[in-house]
Amino acid sequence: MRIAVASGKGGTGKTTVAVNLAVSAVRVGLRTAYVDCDVEEPNGHIYLKPEKGLSLPVAVEVPEIDESLCTVCGECGKICEFKAIAVLGDRVMVFPELCHGCGGCFLVCPVDAMKRSSRLVGRVETGVSKIATCGGDRAAPDGDGEISVVQGILRVKEAMPLPVIREVKKHIPGGDIVIIDCPPGNSCPMVESVRGADRVILVTEPTPFGLNDLEIALETVREMGIPVDIIMNRCDPGAGLPEGAFGDVGSEVIARIPESREIAEINSRGGLASLEFPELAGTMDRILEKILRSAREARR
Ligand code: SF4
Ligand code: SF4
Repeated sequence: MRIAVASGKGGTGKTTVAVNLAVSAVRVGLRTAYVDCDVEEPNGHIYLKPEKGLSLPVAVEVPEIDESLCTVCGECGKICEFKAIAVLGDRVMVFPELCHGCGGCFLVCPVDAMKRSSRLVGRVETGVSKIATCGGDRAAPDGDGEISVVQGILRVKEAMPLPVIREVKKHIPGGDIVIIDCPPGNSCPMVESVRGADRVILVTEPTPFGLNDLEIALETVREMGIPVDIIMNRCDPGAGLPEGAFGDVGSEVIARIPESREIAEINSRGGLASLEFPELAGTMDRILEKILRSAREARR
């Protein structure tokens, strides 16, 4: 089962939810993977601290012009929608950093002057995180559980995360549950990360910005036909928007996580809040239970 954890805006606590949900899953004995598709700023590893496995380069195919063959017909410049090719007088220039790898220029060149070259845009890393499963009234056997971790890392100054996200998703391991930590926002990287998920959890906060971006994210996910649940984070009874402000959206809220200095302090030193703060562990367990129940009902 693939659960994508997304948010309309950054800073809502999406990664906190994703990593702690993975911890809950492994502690009830599920074979669990955490997949960080937030490739511009992958930070789940700070909390899960995986032992490193593979580190694989991600490259995209870009064109290189063989000037000895080029007749400067201009066809490649006309087909490139991304302005990665400019025909200036008797010169043709390629801007590899703008190339989206669509392959159009290779097809239209009448003299086969376009040669295939590659450009490194990031890397995919795998690893294993050991999580203590002993203690409490949990069903998992005592000892260490393992979370398989996969993360993508976009190279600094690169503008296109999609090739790295696609490569990350090719390395998702088998298991019972996969938690996908998505990039914030509602644009292509979020859509690409969410694609293929069984359920989406949208993490938001009770503020006007939170509500605005939640509505856009909800529309996006519904358009993709994926069932969605909402987690309201940092619910401070004395501040933020009142419950009623979220209107219809409120019915899809499956959990409210209170504003907590303890959770913030644990996060700030790279700790796993659900291992140190029992209240959050209980909340994450209940969220996991609800999601699994909904998935079972959907399959019936
Ligand atoms: S592969 Fe596509 S995006 Fe890249 S330069 Fe050619 S036409 Fe433009
Ligand atoms: S399509 Fe081929 S021949 Fe025409 S300008 Fe581009 S590289 Fe040169």
